[in-house]
Amino acid sequence: MTRKNLAIIGNGMATGRLLDELARRDGLARFEVAVFGEEPHGCYNRILLNRVLLGGSVDDITLKPAAWYAERGVRLRSGAAVTRMSPAARRLWTADGQEHYFDLAVFATGSVPRLPPVEGITRADGKFKDGVAAYRTAADCERMRASAKKGGRAVVVGGGILGLEAAKGLADLGLSVTLLHLFDTLMERQVDKAGGVMLRRAVEALGITVRTSANTKAVLGEKRAEGVLLGGGERVPSDLVVFASGVKPRIDLAKDSDVPTNAGILVDDQLQTQLPALYAVGECAEHDGRVYGIVQPVYEQCAVLADVLTGANPGARYRGSKLYTRLKVAGVEVASMGDIDPKEADDEVVQVIEEKRGVYRKLIIRDERLAGAVLVGDASAAAGLVRRFERGDPVPANRLDLLASPDRASEPSGGVVCNCHQVTEPSLLEAIRGGCRSLQDLATRTGAGTGCGSCRGQLAALLLKTQSPRLAGG
Ligand SMILES: Cc1cc2nc3c(=O)[nH]c(=O)nc-3n(C[C@H](O)[C@H](O)[C@H](O)COP(=O)(O)OP(=O)(O)OC[C@H]3O[C@@H](n4cnc5c(N)ncnc54)[C@H](O)[C@@H]3O)c2cc1C
Repeated sequence: MTRKNLAIIGNGMATGRLLDELARRDGLARFEVAVFGEEPHGCYNRILLNRVLLGGSVDDITLKPAAWYAERGVRLRSGAAVTRMSPAARRLWTADGQEHYFDLAVFATGSVPRLPPVEGITRADGKFKDGVAAYRTAADCERMRASAKKGGRAVVVGGGILGLEAAKGLADLGLSVTLLHLFDTLMERQVDKAGGVMLRRAVEALGITVRTSANTKAVLGEKRAEGVLLGGGERVPSDLVVFASGVKPRIDLAKDSDVPTNAGILVDDQLQTQLPALYAVGECAEHDGRVYGIVQPVYEQCAVLADVLTGANPGARYRGSKLYTRLKVAGVEVASMGDIDPKEADDEVVQVIEEKRGVYRKLIIRDERLAGAVLVGDASAAAGLVRRFERGDPVPANRLDLLASPDRASEPSGGVVCNCHQVTEPSLLEAIRGGCRSLQDLATRTGAGTGCGSCRGQLAALLLKTQSPRLAGG
């Protein structure tokens, strides 16, 4: 039987995960898979890009080197942007003019930086001025690094996850960094006002100047960036200006090919676009009026799409994701899920503030269920909270038990420790019993800790606990 041609456009984190999910269902043998990636590498862990900013190589964060694809019979065309597609003729063309036939195609084109309406970002030819950069790709990081002179000045526009990461990276490179944020709270989508105060303090403690309610109007300088102009007329001098002010789905190819789009490429519960044999997954997809900007929903979509494409579970449906974020941003642990402020009259709010430790924890309880949580400075209770939030389990009478040490809060034990790769405590324990003795072993064997890395502390604790003579055998 001839195998169907499956073309995947884009080779980012969604594609990396989709290939794993297909492999798990024998899908790589069932299809002739061709992956087209505009970036010149195998897929890499975009979440760890700050390592490249700090001078590491893309290889350090590569999830699938070229050999991975070759060994599994996947045809990888890296450095090959798909510039044209004909859904009717089932053909696509890469920038170098090569034509490729497909039976099924998946858009996994991700997002592009959303640039704010600021004058003077680009030169006359539409390219960034020297000393201006965005923060999305390994090439962006290399560009930033090339402009970053030790002792120089940098401005980062955007105080969300990306902006904080960029600011920390540039401060680590020895630059004097000013972070400009339009809103009055950093990471205002994940963190409430009180948590934002704690987060701001932690960021300022790194030597970063934080300016909130700061409206960037223009990038100064003729050929290269010399600073920015703020709404009130103030000038902030700088040799490097980095825009990290959000993302928008990359839909140019789909739109030009008459695939229906809105903010993202419109997909149904099976991740199928409104045209037959065409699917979309990851940050480029819009499902039920929502587009996503973090990786956990992307992974959930990939599992459903692999079920659908391989027929492993033809009834699989993606119903949208309950959002939670857990990460270490600018060196500070942050976790957030659901509502970050009360919404209904009867919502109960539990707040614990530990000024000295720089820890802030807040729970929103609705109808005896967890409706949301914000953790800043200590996210050790996050795994238990996420589990309870996802399942809708009732909360204990003593609300503070929810914030207790992970061991107490996570009853029943056995939940997900690594959210990025959905690795559970039992599978980690099994790997440890099977001989994993170090964090590296455990990460290689199970994948845990190789996503955002925020669970590595828990992995280390698990290793310590199981290897401690007092607890061994217990
Ligand atoms: C610095 C940084 C830090 C982050 N930190 C976190 C975090 O801590 N936690 C979290 O959950 N998420 C984080 N994210 C978001 C996370 O990286 C994304 O959710 C994830 O990468 C989305 O995967 P994707 O495959 O949809 O898009 P991408 O990873 O962007 O991949 C899309 C790929 O498609 C390629 N492409 C686009 N169009 C074409 C075309 N026409 N032809 C060929 N190739 C094409 C692009 O070049 C790109 O390589 C972070 C992102 C960044 C940039």
